[in-house]
Amino acid sequence: ADTPLFGELPGDISVSFEFFPPKTEKMETQLWDSITQLAPLAPNFVSVTYGAGGSTRERTHATVSRLVRETDLVPAAHLTCVGASKGEIDEIVDQYWDAGVRHIVALRGDPPPTDEGVFVPHPEGYTCAADLVAGLKARHDFDISVAAYPEIHPEALSPEADLDNLKRKIDAGASRAITQFFFSTDAYFRFMDKALAAGIDAPIIPGIMPVTSFAAIRRMSGNTEIPGWLETMFEGLDDRPGPRALVAAVAAADLCKRLYDGGVRDFHFYTLNKAEQTYAICQLLGLRPKTNPTETAA
Ligand code: FAD
Repeated sequence: ADTPLFGELPGDISVSFEFFPPKTEKMETQLWDSITQLAPLAPNFVSVTYGAGGSTRERTHATVSRLVRETDLVPAAHLTCVGASKGEIDEIVDQYWDAGVRHIVALRGDPPPTDEGVFVPHPEGYTCAADLVAGLKARHDFDISVAAYPEIHPEALSPEADLDNLKRKIDAGASRAITQFFFSTDAYFRFMDKALAAGIDAPIIPGIMPVTSFAAIRRMSGNTEIPGWLETMFEGLDDRPGPRALVAAVAAADLCKRLYDGGVRDFHFYTLNKAEQTYAICQLLGLRPKTNPTETAA
């Protein structure tokens, strides 16, 4: 039948974009080029990740500060419990608060690879994300986002324990959760049902990852199921970055469309500091540019 995959979607969605802090001048240029391209889509917020082991503390801060100085976008700074005492975390968040940053993505973080995968809290630090949320909230009235795992965090004792943990994070003061990326809408909707039944009524925004490198996705995926049909879709594209990027945008847009059909209206994109795919997905979902906040740069 003549039914288009996307059709005329009204674009009644809202989006947020995640970036990582650049390591080199070239990466910095790419990041800001991407921010400039994506800004007209008027994201609710743009978040900047924090490196494993707290390794990008300065660079995350520098990127977030530049967002504050040069754009009207709402920045969200990721922050983890790794390798820092509560006092050091206080210093970091005071700096953010003083700079006008009001949104923190509060995470436990992962142990450095040398630590055999076991998270060991700093002796004077926070032990888990729920603890960090409570600490942040006690210090300043931040808007706080936390992580959620539709396919269960790999270290969780059970699905129920993981859901309890999410509830603790929300009860400690987080106003929304953002999910780990996933490729099965069933997994997401099942998780949403369970979360609601567990009394979690904060929004749980799906985190969307366009597949730029299939090998990397497999490495990063933890508990995330990679459906066979997705693997088939990317067959033979390892050395063909152009077609792979196009296929990835369509696959992610298709995932978003199925989420949209199930009632989802908020989407968080892992942009990997590239604009094209995320922009194309938003375009297919009917979203069109609004104003360009970067034009208000001083
Ligand atoms: P927590 O919520 O503390 O949970 C960690 C584990 O401990 C879970 O298995 C949980 O079930 C269990 N747990 C916690 N408390 C209890 C308890 N009382 N009893 C029993 N079990 C418990 N990492 C970075 O380093 N930098 C980033 O910028 C970053 N951004 C991210 C953004 C998103 C949207 C997501 C989904 C993840 C991100 N991560 C980032 C990865 C994250 O740090 C890891 O997944 C980490 O392993 C868990 O962090 P968390 O905040 O979910 O931890």
